[in-house]
Amino acid sequence: MKYISTRGKTEPMLFSDVLLMGLAPDGGLMLPESYPQIDDEVLTQWRTLGYTDLAFEIMKLFATDIPEQDLQDIINKTYTKQAFNSDEITPVTKLYQGVDLLELSNGPTLAFKDMAMQFLGNAFEYVLSKKGERLTIIGATSGDTGSAAEYALRGKQNIEVFMMSPHGKMSAFQRAQMYSLDDKNIHNIAVQGMFDDCQEIVKKLQEDHDFKQKYSLGTVNSINWGRILAQIVYYFKGYFAATQNNHETISVCVPSGNFGNVCAAHIAREMGLPIDRLIVATNENDVLNEFFNTGKYQPRTSDETFVTSSPSMDISKASNFERFIYLLLDKDTQKVAQLFTQVRQGNGFDLSENLNKIQETFGFVAGKSTHQDRLDTIRFIFEQTQRLIDPHTADGVKVALDLQQPNERILVAETALPAKFEETMSEALGEIDLPRPAHTVGLEEKPQYVTVAENRAEEVADLIKQFVQPN
Ligand SMILES: *Cc1c(COP(=O)(O)O)cnc(C)c1O
Repeated sequence: MKYISTRGKTEPMLFSDVLLMGLAPDGGLMLPESYPQIDDEVLTQWRTLGYTDLAFEIMKLFATDIPEQDLQDIINKTYTKQAFNSDEITPVTKLYQGVDLLELSNGPTLAFKDMAMQFLGNAFEYVLSKKGERLTIIGATSGDTGSAAEYALRGKQNIEVFMMSPHGKMSAFQRAQMYSLDDKNIHNIAVQGMFDDCQEIVKKLQEDHDFKQKYSLGTVNSINWGRILAQIVYYFKGYFAATQNNHETISVCVPSGNFGNVCAAHIAREMGLPIDRLIVATNENDVLNEFFNTGKYQPRTSDETFVTSSPSMDISKASNFERFIYLLLDKDTQKVAQLFTQVRQGNGFDLSENLNKIQETFGFVAGKSTHQDRLDTIRFIFEQTQRLIDPHTADGVKVALDLQQPNERILVAETALPAKFEETMSEALGEIDLPRPAHTVGLEEKPQYVTVAENRAEEVADLIKQFVQPN
């Protein structure tokens, strides 16, 4: 299988090259020339497979340049009961009146990002050793992404990680999760500034081509194709767990930010998985809600982005969105390039003439949730079912219950565990003991390893030079 760019000006590439990439050289996003089609017979064969075997069947269609035995090894090493707390890896549990949860947050950092990041860590290590290359991962985080990346890349050969976070801005739990890692290849940098400043530093270092070359800089952000691929798998697994045969359809509802997770669900649907509707749930940062209801995409600036109690969905632009727009516009790369050049210049675009296609052909609908909705939903679900759901998952459940049609079954992606968000949970429920997985008990008491840095790219560059040999 070959990979091409949504903007049409990048030579076709193989999976292992695309895996290590961020943006395509032409500024677009990489994706397969076409999505493999899965028929009824194959679906039936896959229905009874365990997680690792199913992941192998799906991923081998996309990663055709990795020998099958090696791919199987990477997958077996990644999706273990030890790392994800159950043999099913992503169990489906009943929640309330036809709305079920697809549990994606039982990995090391208690958020769904582990599902993809743990795979990426092992896949990176494998590909780098085959190529005889190394990588210096730089990133900025306000919480979930950084910890998922660090837990996936800790101790990996030929990979050094420099993760910037805003000094004093994360919760005690989030700080402890990241800063307690003592692996030699993990470097936590607390920047005296805000999250945006951290991101700005990453951008500056990436744009310095000499420095980037010399120190083999790379990223693991949400546009990475390997992450999307790993996320496709659990929609198949969830569908099989929730149905008896391939004539049954379900809808999925995904708490969304950068359109990564729901993009994977969309691709699974394109491959032939019997998903009825793709329900996009946003918080107050509702660019995607607006698009799927009107066809108008109007990204915001970071000043116009609200800080909310579902912080991992606080985005102003959905970085994976271009992958869907490419398909919506029948692979018209010129048009895609034109629209997203507009976006880069701070403008939006209007595809309202395609609204019917967006909703009917592609199955997308959307809804939004507010802080009060999250609190109400957490309380309501707890009262009705005794189950605790985190604020992001609550956005999903709220929107699913709002939009549910008669007899429609909806799988809501559980994107984090409540233990990560004590403050909002107790605002909703009063003082409450949140269950914690064994490996996180006492986390806050462990020694922490972090370097505080001024808000300057040069200072971070100096830290990198200290630990990485130049090429
Ligand atoms: C990252 C994240 C999201 C948003 O996922 P996208 O793939 O960016 O849409 C939602 N919830 C949680 C808990 C997250 O960490």
